[in-house]
Amino acid sequence: MSKPTDTQRMEKIVSLCKRRGFIFQSSEIYGGLNGAWDYGPLGVELKRNLKNYWWRLMVHDRDDVVGMDGAILTHPAVLKASGHVEGFSDPMIDCRTCKAHLRADQLVEKKGVKQCPNCGGRDFTEARQFNLMFQTHVGAAAEESSIAYLRPETAQSIFVQFKNVLDVSRKKLPFGIAQIGKAFRNEINPRNFTFRSREFEQMELEYFCRPEQGMGLLEYWKEERLKFYENIGLERAKLHVLNVPDAERAFYSKGTYDIEYDFPFGRQELEGVAYRTDYDLSQHQKASGKSLEYFDEETKEKIIPHVVEPSAGVDRTVLAMICEAYAEDQAPNDKGEMESRIVLRLHPRMAPMKCAIFPLLKNKEPLVAKAKEIVALLRPHMTVFYDESGAIGRRYRRQDEIGTPFGVTVDFETLGERDPALRETVTLRDRDSMKQERVAIQDLPSILQERIR
Ligand code: ATP
Repeated sequence: MSKPTDTQRMEKIVSLCKRRGFIFQSSEIYGGLNGAWDYGPLGVELKRNLKNYWWRLMVHDRDDVVGMDGAILTHPAVLKASGHVEGFSDPMIDCRTCKAHLRADQLVEKKGVKQCPNCGGRDFTEARQFNLMFQTHVGAAAEESSIAYLRPETAQSIFVQFKNVLDVSRKKLPFGIAQIGKAFRNEINPRNFTFRSREFEQMELEYFCRPEQGMGLLEYWKEERLKFYENIGLERAKLHVLNVPDAERAFYSKGTYDIEYDFPFGRQELEGVAYRTDYDLSQHQKASGKSLEYFDEETKEKIIPHVVEPSAGVDRTVLAMICEAYAEDQAPNDKGEMESRIVLRLHPRMAPMKCAIFPLLKNKEPLVAKAKEIVALLRPHMTVFYDESGAIGRRYRRQDEIGTPFGVTVDFETLGERDPALRETVTLRDRDSMKQERVAIQDLPSILQERIR
Protein backbone atom coordinates (compact mmCIF):
# COMPACT_ATOMS: atom_id res chain seq x y z
CA MET A 1 0.00 0.00 0.00
CA SER A 2 1.16 3.48 -0.84
CA LYS A 3 1.64 5.83 2.13
CA PRO A 4 -0.88 8.65 2.57
CA THR A 5 0.13 11.89 0.89
CA ASP A 6 1.65 14.65 2.97
CA THR A 7 0.71 17.98 1.44
CA GLN A 8 2.09 20.05 4.27
CA ARG A 9 5.52 18.44 4.08
CA MET A 10 5.58 18.96 0.34
CA GLU A 11 4.72 22.65 0.73
CA LYS A 12 7.62 23.09 3.16
CA ILE A 13 9.98 21.38 0.73
CA VAL A 14 8.89 23.56 -2.21
CA SER A 15 9.31 26.65 -0.08
CA LEU A 16 12.80 25.65 1.11
CA CYS A 17 13.83 24.93 -2.47
CA LYS A 18 12.95 28.46 -3.46
CA ARG A 19 14.20 30.19 -0.32
CA ARG A 20 17.62 28.58 -0.42
CA GLY A 21 18.12 28.54 -4.18
CA PHE A 22 17.61 24.93 -5.19
CA ILE A 23 14.72 25.27 -7.63
CA PHE A 24 12.81 28.26 -9.02
CA GLN A 25 9.76 28.43 -11.25
CA SER A 26 10.95 29.18 -14.77
CA SER A 27 10.19 32.71 -16.07
CA GLU A 28 8.81 33.50 -12.62
CA ILE A 29 8.86 37.29 -12.98
CA TYR A 30 6.52 36.94 -15.98
CA GLY A 31 4.09 34.71 -14.17
CA GLY A 32 5.92 31.43 -14.76
CA LEU A 33 6.04 28.92 -17.59
CA ASN A 34 4.08 25.86 -16.59
CA GLY A 35 6.08 22.64 -16.51
CA ALA A 36 9.51 24.31 -16.67
CA TRP A 37 11.89 24.82 -13.76
CA ASP A 38 15.21 26.58 -13.25
CA TYR A 39 17.81 25.21 -10.86
CA GLY A 40 19.50 27.82 -8.68
CA PRO A 41 23.05 27.90 -7.28
CA LEU A 42 22.55 24.94 -4.93
CA GLY A 43 20.17 22.99 -7.16
CA VAL A 44 22.65 22.95 -10.01
CA GLU A 45 25.36 21.52 -7.72
CA LEU A 46 23.05 18.81 -6.41
CA LYS A 47 21.96 17.91 -9.92
CA ARG A 48 25.53 17.75 -11.18
CA ASN A 49 26.61 15.58 -8.27
CA LEU A 50 23.83 13.16 -9.18
CA LYS A 51 24.68 13.10 -12.88
CA ASN A 52 28.41 12.77 -12.21
CA TYR A 53 27.85 9.89 -9.82
CA TRP A 54 25.57 8.10 -12.31
CA TRP A 55 28.19 8.61 -15.02
CA ARG A 56 30.98 7.36 -12.76
CA LEU A 57 29.11 4.19 -11.87
CA MET A 58 27.53 3.49 -15.23
CA VAL A 59 30.41 4.49 -17.56
CA HIS A 60 33.79 5.15 -15.91
CA ASP A 61 33.74 2.23 -13.49
CA ARG A 62 32.87 -0.27 -16.20
CA ASP A 63 34.70 -1.78 -19.18
CA ASP A 64 31.50 -2.58 -21.00
CA VAL A 65 29.84 0.86 -21.29
CA VAL A 66 30.74 3.94 -23.32
CA GLY A 67 29.01 7.31 -23.37
CA MET A 68 27.59 9.63 -25.99
CA ASP A 69 25.84 12.99 -26.14
CA GLY A 70 23.24 13.27 -28.89
CA ALA A 71 21.41 16.23 -30.39
CA ILE A 72 18.08 17.34 -28.98
CA LEU A 73 16.68 18.28 -32.40
CA THR A 74 15.59 15.06 -34.00
CA HIS A 75 14.89 14.08 -37.60
CA PRO A 76 11.22 13.14 -37.98
CA ALA A 77 12.17 9.85 -39.64
CA VAL A 78 13.79 8.69 -36.40
CA LEU A 79 10.62 9.26 -34.40
CA LYS A 80 8.40 7.81 -37.11
CA ALA A 81 10.44 4.60 -37.07
CA SER A 82 10.45 4.42 -33.28
CA GLY A 83 6.65 4.77 -33.20
CA HIS A 84 6.60 8.14 -31.40
CA VAL A 85 4.97 10.16 -34.21
CA GLU A 86 2.13 7.67 -34.40
CA GLY A 87 1.78 6.53 -30.82
CA PHE A 88 3.47 8.76 -28.23
CA SER A 89 0.27 10.21 -26.91
CA ASP A 90 -1.99 10.37 -23.90
CA PRO A 91 -5.79 10.29 -24.10
CA MET A 92 -7.07 13.81 -23.33
CA ILE A 93 -10.51 14.91 -22.17
CA ASP A 94 -11.89 18.41 -21.58
CA CYS A 95 -14.22 19.25 -18.72
CA ARG A 96 -17.14 21.22 -20.24
CA THR A 97 -17.85 22.88 -16.88
CA CYS A 98 -14.47 24.41 -15.98
CA LYS A 99 -12.76 23.94 -19.39
CA ALA A 100 -9.82 22.08 -17.82
CA HIS A 101 -7.77 19.84 -20.13
CA LEU A 102 -7.31 16.54 -18.36
CA ARG A 103 -5.56 13.28 -18.95
CA ALA A 104 -8.31 10.69 -19.13
CA ASP A 105 -6.81 8.71 -16.25
CA GLN A 106 -7.00 11.75 -13.96
CA LEU A 107 -10.77 11.76 -13.66
CA VAL A 108 -11.85 10.83 -10.17
CA GLU A 109 -14.52 8.24 -9.67
CA LYS A 110 -17.11 8.84 -7.00
CA LYS A 111 -19.88 6.27 -6.51
CA GLY A 112 -19.16 4.90 -9.96
CA VAL A 113 -19.45 8.31 -11.66
CA LYS A 114 -16.43 10.01 -13.24
CA GLN A 115 -15.86 13.57 -12.05
CA CYS A 116 -13.54 16.44 -12.90
CA PRO A 117 -10.77 16.62 -10.23
CA ASN A 118 -10.90 20.46 -10.42
CA CYS A 119 -14.59 21.32 -10.22
CA GLY A 120 -16.42 18.04 -9.71
CA GLY A 121 -18.14 18.49 -13.10
CA ARG A 122 -19.44 15.41 -14.92
CA ASP A 123 -19.77 16.69 -18.46
CA PHE A 124 -16.78 15.77 -20.60
CA THR A 125 -15.78 15.79 -24.25
CA GLU A 126 -14.88 12.50 -25.93
CA ALA A 127 -11.32 11.34 -25.25
CA ARG A 128 -8.90 12.20 -28.06
CA GLN A 129 -5.25 11.29 -28.50
CA PHE A 130 -2.83 14.11 -27.73
CA ASN A 131 0.73 13.65 -28.99
CA LEU A 132 3.22 14.65 -26.31
CA MET A 133 6.05 15.63 -28.63
CA PHE A 134 7.14 19.23 -29.18
CA GLN A 135 7.34 19.92 -32.88
CA THR A 136 9.46 22.68 -34.36
CA HIS A 137 10.82 23.83 -37.72
CA VAL A 138 14.42 23.77 -38.79
CA GLY A 139 15.53 26.71 -40.95
CA ALA A 140 13.53 29.64 -42.26
CA ALA A 141 10.67 27.84 -43.98
CA ALA A 142 7.85 26.60 -41.79
CA GLU A 143 6.70 23.79 -44.05
CA GLU A 144 6.12 20.06 -43.84
CA SER A 145 9.64 19.22 -45.00
CA SER A 146 11.28 21.34 -42.28
CA ILE A 147 9.58 19.65 -39.31
CA ALA A 148 11.83 18.41 -36.51
CA TYR A 149 11.08 17.35 -32.96
CA LEU A 150 12.60 18.04 -29.58
CA ARG A 151 13.49 14.53 -28.47
CA PRO A 152 10.97 12.95 -26.08
CA GLU A 153 13.66 10.60 -24.72
CA THR A 154 17.42 10.38 -25.11
CA ALA A 155 17.34 6.72 -26.13
CA GLN A 156 16.60 7.14 -29.83
CA SER A 157 19.87 8.86 -30.66
CA ILE A 158 21.67 5.93 -29.05
CA PHE A 159 19.86 3.46 -31.31
CA VAL A 160 20.43 5.57 -34.39
CA GLN A 161 24.18 5.87 -33.61
CA PHE A 162 24.51 2.23 -32.60
CA LYS A 163 26.62 1.27 -35.60
CA ASN A 164 28.95 4.26 -35.39
CA VAL A 165 29.59 3.76 -31.69
CA LEU A 166 30.08 0.01 -32.17
CA ASP A 167 32.62 0.60 -34.95
CA VAL A 168 34.69 3.12 -33.01
CA SER A 169 34.55 1.46 -29.60
CA ARG A 170 35.07 -2.13 -30.85
CA LYS A 171 32.97 -3.47 -27.98
CA LYS A 172 31.72 -7.04 -27.87
CA LEU A 173 28.23 -8.02 -26.70
CA PRO A 174 27.04 -7.44 -24.09
CA PHE A 175 27.91 -3.75 -23.96
CA GLY A 176 26.12 -0.49 -23.33
CA ILE A 177 25.87 3.09 -24.50
CA ALA A 178 24.98 5.69 -21.88
CA GLN A 179 23.64 9.20 -22.21
CA ILE A 180 22.48 12.01 -19.95
CA GLY A 181 20.49 14.85 -21.44
CA LYS A 182 17.35 16.86 -21.86
CA ALA A 183 14.06 15.42 -23.05
CA PHE A 184 10.78 17.21 -23.74
CA ARG A 185 7.18 16.11 -23.39
CA ASN A 186 4.17 18.33 -23.69
CA GLU A 187 2.54 16.78 -20.64
CA ILE A 188 -1.17 17.55 -20.39
CA ASN A 189 -0.95 18.35 -16.68
CA PRO A 190 2.52 19.05 -15.30
CA ARG A 191 2.27 18.63 -11.54
CA ASN A 192 3.84 17.71 -8.23
CA PHE A 193 6.58 20.34 -8.44
CA THR A 194 9.33 19.08 -10.77
CA PHE A 195 8.01 15.51 -10.78
CA ARG A 196 6.11 15.86 -14.04
CA SER A 197 7.67 18.59 -16.14
CA ARG A 198 7.58 19.43 -19.81
CA GLU A 199 11.35 19.82 -19.99
CA PHE A 200 13.45 17.40 -17.95
CA GLU A 201 16.64 15.40 -17.99
CA GLN A 202 17.11 11.69 -18.34
CA MET A 203 19.98 9.33 -17.55
CA GLU A 204 19.66 6.40 -19.90
CA LEU A 205 21.66 3.29 -20.59
CA GLU A 206 20.98 1.07 -23.57
CA TYR A 207 22.64 -2.23 -22.76
CA PHE A 208 22.90 -4.41 -25.89
CA CYS A 209 23.02 -8.18 -25.60
CA ARG A 210 22.25 -11.51 -27.20
CA PRO A 211 18.55 -12.48 -27.14
CA GLU A 212 19.09 -15.24 -24.58
CA GLN A 213 20.72 -12.76 -22.16
CA GLY A 214 17.80 -10.29 -22.09
CA MET A 215 15.73 -11.59 -19.19
CA GLY A 216 18.77 -12.20 -16.98
CA LEU A 217 20.11 -8.71 -17.65
CA LEU A 218 16.73 -7.21 -16.83
CA GLU A 219 17.10 -8.66 -13.31
CA TYR A 220 20.74 -7.62 -13.12
CA TRP A 221 20.03 -3.99 -13.99
CA LYS A 222 17.03 -3.76 -11.71
CA GLU A 223 19.28 -4.78 -8.80
CA GLU A 224 22.11 -2.45 -9.86
CA ARG A 225 19.75 0.47 -10.06
CA LEU A 226 18.24 -0.23 -6.66
CA LYS A 227 21.75 -0.21 -5.19
CA PHE A 228 22.37 3.13 -6.90
CA TYR A 229 19.40 4.74 -5.20
CA GLU A 230 20.53 3.43 -1.84
CA ASN A 231 24.02 4.80 -2.51
CA ILE A 232 22.65 8.30 -2.98
CA GLY A 233 20.80 8.14 0.30
CA LEU A 234 17.27 6.94 -0.52
CA GLU A 235 15.99 4.60 2.11
CA ARG A 236 15.45 1.04 0.82
CA ALA A 237 12.07 0.84 2.57
CA LYS A 238 10.80 3.77 0.47
CA LEU A 239 11.90 2.17 -2.82
CA HIS A 240 9.57 -0.26 -4.53
CA VAL A 241 9.78 -2.43 -7.59
CA LEU A 242 6.65 -2.72 -9.71
CA ASN A 243 6.66 -5.60 -12.16
CA VAL A 244 4.65 -3.91 -14.92
CA PRO A 245 1.84 -6.27 -15.98
CA ASP A 246 1.61 -7.53 -19.59
CA ALA A 247 -1.33 -5.30 -20.46
CA GLU A 248 0.44 -2.10 -19.42
CA ARG A 249 3.82 -2.85 -20.99
CA ALA A 250 4.88 -1.59 -24.40
CA PHE A 251 3.95 -4.36 -26.88
CA TYR A 252 7.60 -5.00 -27.77
CA SER A 253 8.81 -5.31 -24.19
CA LYS A 254 9.24 -8.77 -22.68
CA GLY A 255 9.61 -7.41 -19.17
CA THR A 256 9.55 -4.01 -17.45
CA TYR A 257 10.15 -2.96 -13.88
CA ASP A 258 9.28 0.45 -12.56
CA ILE A 259 11.40 1.57 -9.63
CA GLU A 260 9.12 3.69 -7.50
CA TYR A 261 9.68 5.95 -4.52
CA ASP A 262 7.39 7.08 -1.71
CA PHE A 263 7.21 10.82 -2.38
CA PRO A 264 5.17 12.98 0.02
CA PHE A 265 2.54 13.09 -2.77
CA GLY A 266 2.42 9.31 -3.11
CA ARG A 267 4.30 6.38 -4.58
CA GLN A 268 5.55 7.33 -8.03
CA GLU A 269 7.98 6.17 -10.71
CA LEU A 270 11.64 7.19 -10.54
CA GLU A 271 12.96 4.93 -13.24
CA GLY A 272 11.86 2.31 -15.76
CA VAL A 273 14.02 -0.74 -16.42
CA ALA A 274 12.77 -2.36 -19.62
CA TYR A 275 13.80 -5.29 -21.77
CA ARG A 276 12.95 -3.83 -25.18
CA THR A 277 14.01 -6.87 -27.26
CA ASP A 278 15.39 -5.97 -30.71
CA TYR A 279 12.45 -3.67 -31.45
CA ASP A 280 14.30 -0.34 -31.73
CA LEU A 281 17.27 -1.48 -33.79
CA SER A 282 15.02 -3.54 -36.08
CA GLN A 283 12.69 -0.60 -36.65
CA HIS A 284 15.58 1.73 -37.52
CA GLN A 285 17.21 -0.85 -39.76
CA LYS A 286 13.96 -1.34 -41.63
CA ALA A 287 13.17 2.36 -41.97
CA SER A 288 16.68 3.58 -42.85
CA GLY A 289 17.70 0.66 -45.04
CA LYS A 290 21.08 0.66 -43.24
CA SER A 291 22.38 -2.43 -41.51
CA LEU A 292 22.37 -2.22 -37.73
CA GLU A 293 23.55 -5.77 -37.32
CA TYR A 294 26.31 -7.06 -35.11
CA PHE A 295 28.73 -9.65 -36.43
CA ASP A 296 29.41 -12.26 -33.81
CA GLU A 297 32.94 -13.50 -34.38
CA GLU A 298 32.44 -16.62 -32.29
CA THR A 299 29.40 -17.95 -34.09
CA LYS A 300 30.13 -16.17 -37.39
CA GLU A 301 26.54 -14.96 -37.39
CA LYS A 302 24.99 -11.56 -37.86
CA ILE A 303 22.35 -10.63 -35.32
CA ILE A 304 20.33 -7.62 -34.34
CA PRO A 305 21.19 -7.19 -30.65
CA HIS A 306 18.51 -7.07 -28.01
CA VAL A 307 18.54 -4.30 -25.44
CA VAL A 308 17.83 -3.73 -21.75
CA GLU A 309 17.23 -0.11 -20.82
CA PRO A 310 17.47 1.43 -17.35
CA SER A 311 15.98 4.90 -17.87
CA ALA A 312 16.05 7.31 -14.96
CA GLY A 313 14.85 10.88 -14.50
CA VAL A 314 17.38 13.39 -13.16
CA ASP A 315 14.76 15.84 -11.88
CA ARG A 316 12.67 13.16 -10.22
CA THR A 317 15.72 11.77 -8.48
CA VAL A 318 16.82 15.22 -7.30
CA LEU A 319 13.32 15.72 -5.93
CA ALA A 320 13.38 12.32 -4.22
CA MET A 321 16.72 13.15 -2.60
CA ILE A 322 15.39 16.45 -1.27
CA CYS A 323 12.17 14.83 -0.01
CA GLU A 324 14.17 12.07 1.70
CA ALA A 325 16.60 14.54 3.25
CA TYR A 326 14.15 17.10 4.60
CA ALA A 327 13.91 16.91 8.39
CA GLU A 328 13.00 19.07 11.35
CA ASP A 329 14.62 18.45 14.71
CA GLN A 330 16.06 20.25 17.73
CA ALA A 331 19.50 21.80 18.00
CA PRO A 332 21.14 24.00 20.63
CA ASN A 333 21.60 27.70 19.91
CA ASP A 334 24.57 29.79 21.08
CA LYS A 335 23.15 30.00 24.58
CA GLY A 336 22.74 26.25 24.72
CA GLU A 337 18.92 26.44 24.48
CA MET A 338 17.23 23.93 22.22
CA GLU A 339 15.63 25.36 19.09
CA SER A 340 13.90 23.71 16.18
CA ARG A 341 16.01 23.45 13.07
CA ILE A 342 15.42 22.47 9.47
CA VAL A 343 18.09 20.12 8.22
CA LEU A 344 18.61 18.51 4.84
CA ARG A 345 20.19 15.16 5.58
CA LEU A 346 21.57 14.78 2.06
CA HIS A 347 24.09 12.03 1.52
CA PRO A 348 27.53 13.73 1.77
CA ARG A 349 28.31 12.42 -1.73
CA MET A 350 25.36 14.41 -3.10
CA ALA A 351 25.42 17.54 -0.92
CA PRO A 352 25.93 20.74 -2.95
CA MET A 353 28.41 22.18 -0.43
CA LYS A 354 30.66 19.67 1.28
CA CYS A 355 32.23 21.77 3.97
CA ALA A 356 31.57 25.16 5.54
CA ILE A 357 34.44 27.05 7.11
CA PHE A 358 33.93 29.56 9.90
CA PRO A 359 36.32 31.80 11.79
CA LEU A 360 34.92 32.01 15.33
CA LEU A 361 34.98 35.83 15.17
CA LYS A 362 35.09 37.95 12.06
CA ASN A 363 36.98 40.84 13.62
CA LYS A 364 39.99 38.78 14.70
CA GLU A 365 42.38 38.92 11.78
CA PRO A 366 44.45 35.77 12.65
CA LEU A 367 41.24 33.68 12.85
CA VAL A 368 40.02 35.00 9.51
CA ALA A 369 43.41 34.47 7.86
CA LYS A 370 43.62 30.87 9.09
CA ALA A 371 40.04 30.14 7.95
CA LYS A 372 40.84 31.46 4.47
CA GLU A 373 43.95 29.28 4.39
CA ILE A 374 41.72 26.26 5.04
CA VAL A 375 39.36 27.35 2.26
CA ALA A 376 42.33 27.37 -0.13
CA LEU A 377 43.51 23.99 1.16
CA LEU A 378 40.15 22.28 0.61
CA ARG A 379 38.90 24.04 -2.51
CA PRO A 380 40.84 21.91 -5.03
CA HIS A 381 39.13 18.82 -3.62
CA MET A 382 35.54 19.84 -2.90
CA THR A 383 32.96 22.63 -2.81
CA VAL A 384 33.44 24.81 0.25
CA PHE A 385 31.53 27.71 1.74
CA TYR A 386 33.15 30.45 3.78
CA ASP A 387 30.93 32.30 6.25
CA GLU A 388 32.04 34.80 8.88
CA SER A 389 28.81 36.63 9.64
CA GLY A 390 26.61 36.13 12.69
CA ALA A 391 26.75 33.91 15.75
CA ILE A 392 28.29 30.51 15.13
CA GLY A 393 25.01 28.69 15.90
CA ARG A 394 23.22 30.76 13.26
CA ARG A 395 25.93 29.93 10.76
CA TYR A 396 25.56 26.20 11.47
CA ARG A 397 21.82 26.53 11.04
CA ARG A 398 22.18 28.12 7.60
CA GLN A 399 24.39 25.23 6.50
CA ASP A 400 22.10 22.59 8.02
CA GLU A 401 19.26 23.93 5.91
CA ILE A 402 21.18 23.39 2.67
CA GLY A 403 22.55 20.02 3.70
CA THR A 404 26.26 20.85 4.15
CA PRO A 405 27.53 17.73 5.93
CA PHE A 406 30.62 19.21 7.58
CA GLY A 407 31.51 22.45 9.33
CA VAL A 408 35.00 23.55 10.33
CA THR A 409 35.47 26.22 12.98
CA VAL A 410 38.72 28.07 13.49
CA ASP A 411 39.00 29.20 17.12
CA PHE A 412 41.65 30.46 19.54
CA GLU A 413 42.88 26.92 20.13
CA THR A 414 43.74 26.78 16.43
CA LEU A 415 46.14 29.65 16.98
CA GLY A 416 47.69 27.77 19.90
CA GLU A 417 46.86 30.56 22.31
CA ARG A 418 45.75 28.29 25.14
CA ASP A 419 47.27 24.89 24.60
CA PRO A 420 50.21 24.61 22.21
CA ALA A 421 49.25 20.98 21.55
CA LEU A 422 46.08 22.21 19.86
CA ARG A 423 47.84 24.63 17.53
CA GLU A 424 46.86 23.99 13.86
CA THR A 425 43.78 21.98 14.85
CA VAL A 426 40.12 22.85 14.26
CA THR A 427 36.71 21.54 15.29
CA LEU A 428 34.97 19.44 12.68
CA ARG A 429 31.23 19.29 13.17
CA ASP A 430 28.96 16.63 11.74
CA ARG A 431 25.61 17.95 10.48
CA ASP A 432 23.50 14.98 11.54
CA SER A 433 24.92 14.02 14.93
CA MET A 434 26.06 17.61 15.64
CA LYS A 435 29.12 16.00 17.28
CA GLN A 436 32.37 17.90 17.13
CA GLU A 437 35.84 16.41 16.88
CA ARG A 438 39.22 18.11 17.05
CA VAL A 439 41.33 17.38 13.98
CA ALA A 440 44.63 18.62 12.56
CA ILE A 441 44.22 21.04 9.66
CA GLN A 442 46.64 19.05 7.53
CA ASP A 443 44.44 15.94 7.89
CA LEU A 444 41.24 17.71 6.78
CA PRO A 445 41.54 17.00 3.03
CA SER A 446 41.95 13.25 3.50
CA ILE A 447 39.35 12.94 6.29
CA LEU A 448 36.74 14.83 4.28
CA GLN A 449 37.51 13.23 0.94
CA GLU A 450 37.02 9.82 2.50
CA ARG A 451 33.59 10.87 3.80
CA ILE A 452 32.24 12.55 0.67
CA ARG A 453 33.28 10.05 -1.97
P1 ATP B 1 5.29 8.53 -16.46
O1 ATP B 1 4.50 7.24 -16.52
O2 ATP B 1 5.50 9.04 -15.07
O3 ATP B 1 4.81 9.56 -17.43
P2 ATP B 1 7.03 7.25 -18.27
O4 ATP B 1 6.82 5.82 -17.90
O5 ATP B 1 6.37 7.79 -19.45
O6 ATP B 1 6.75 8.16 -16.97
P3 ATP B 1 9.60 6.84 -19.34
O7 ATP B 1 9.20 7.09 -20.73
O8 ATP B 1 9.84 5.43 -18.90
O9 ATP B 1 8.56 7.53 -18.34
O10 ATP B 1 10.87 7.75 -19.01
C1 ATP B 1 11.91 7.34 -18.16
C2 ATP B 1 12.08 8.26 -16.99
O11 ATP B 1 12.12 9.63 -17.40
C3 ATP B 1 10.95 8.21 -15.97
O12 ATP B 1 11.09 7.13 -15.09
C4 ATP B 1 11.11 9.54 -15.28
O13 ATP B 1 12.10 9.46 -14.26
C5 ATP B 1 11.59 10.45 -16.37
N1 ATP B 1 10.43 11.24 -16.88
C6 ATP B 1 9.54 10.86 -17.80
N2 ATP B 1 8.62 11.82 -18.01
C7 ATP B 1 8.96 12.84 -17.17
C8 ATP B 1 8.39 14.13 -16.91
N3 ATP B 1 7.32 14.57 -17.56
N4 ATP B 1 9.00 14.91 -15.99
C9 ATP B 1 10.10 14.49 -15.32
N5 ATP B 1 10.66 13.30 -15.53
C10 ATP B 1 10.11 12.46 -16.45
